[in-house]
Amino acid sequence: MERVLFGKAFSALALALPLLGAAPQDPVTAITSDAVPGPVHPWAQACEDWDDWDKPGPPFKIHGNTWYVGTCGISAILITSDDGHALIDSGTEKGAEVVLANIRKLGFDPKDIKLLLGSHEHFDHVGGMAKIQQATGAVFISSAIAVDTMITGKAHPDDPQFGLHEPMAKIAEGLPYDWGDAPYKLDYFGISPIPTPGHTPGAMSWTWRACEGEDCLTVVYADSLSAVSRDDYRFSDHREYLDAFVGSLKDIAEAPCDILATPHPSGGKLKVTLSALARRKQDGLPDFACAGYASAQQQALGMRLSKERGTQ
Ligand SMILES: [Zn+2]
Repeated sequence: MERVLFGKAFSALALALPLLGAAPQDPVTAITSDAVPGPVHPWAQACEDWDDWDKPGPPFKIHGNTWYVGTCGISAILITSDDGHALIDSGTEKGAEVVLANIRKLGFDPKDIKLLLGSHEHFDHVGGMAKIQQATGAVFISSAIAVDTMITGKAHPDDPQFGLHEPMAKIAEGLPYDWGDAPYKLDYFGISPIPTPGHTPGAMSWTWRACEGEDCLTVVYADSLSAVSRDDYRFSDHREYLDAFVGSLKDIAEAPCDILATPHPSGGKLKVTLSALARRKQDGLPDFACAGYASAQQQALGMRLSKERGTQ
């Protein structure tokens, strides 16, 4: 039987070989090589690649009702509506101050935020969520594992980085994305959950349509998909977890995706996205941003598994 690359049934241990073969071209990078030089976006001017997590950077509109309100090094996304807003990720506890200030700079009131979402349960992305919840009074929604981690302040033992991170300030309340009235709250903003376990067991990605009048683009906030762990952890010892990780890569690769955003802005090449958005009228948008991102992370996972096999 022919194996389908990325398929759920795709054997995890067979993953490394095809990945290490002909490396798929990274389409996002390919686009930049033909880039026509233009004015540099203020955020790209203020922020370095892989910049400090708490360094303030200017907030800006991505498209329609979707705004970047994160720091230079950690993303936070605001989705606005006439009847309240949604915020994805908070940054660190210190970074949350920058996020709140950025929201105000854009003319929005944090008190109008009705929904808080998280990418994955690590302190660099949701460590400031307790502070943001205090400032907004909004409910937090993520995976059951992430919600549990954030309410108890205790990392999940399945996290490949278990034991490496400092504990986070506990949030007051949270809901798994498929429980209670969480689906209705997500529906209100037209946000769909994409569970993407792998980097952590509770990792989530989110997608929605951002519209300026009739001009609508699909945004994917794709979580970190990097195979990072503590020293004594081997992904290949956790077959079920690894299969789920491979499934997450497939789901992001196949997601309809006009605009890719990621929790680490440089992970999804935010500067390239900004320059592509600026040239959109002439050149259109690359239709493979998410596939390119997933492909790069898939190769990294393959290399990791290959390394693990070498140290058996
Ligand atoms: Zn992380």
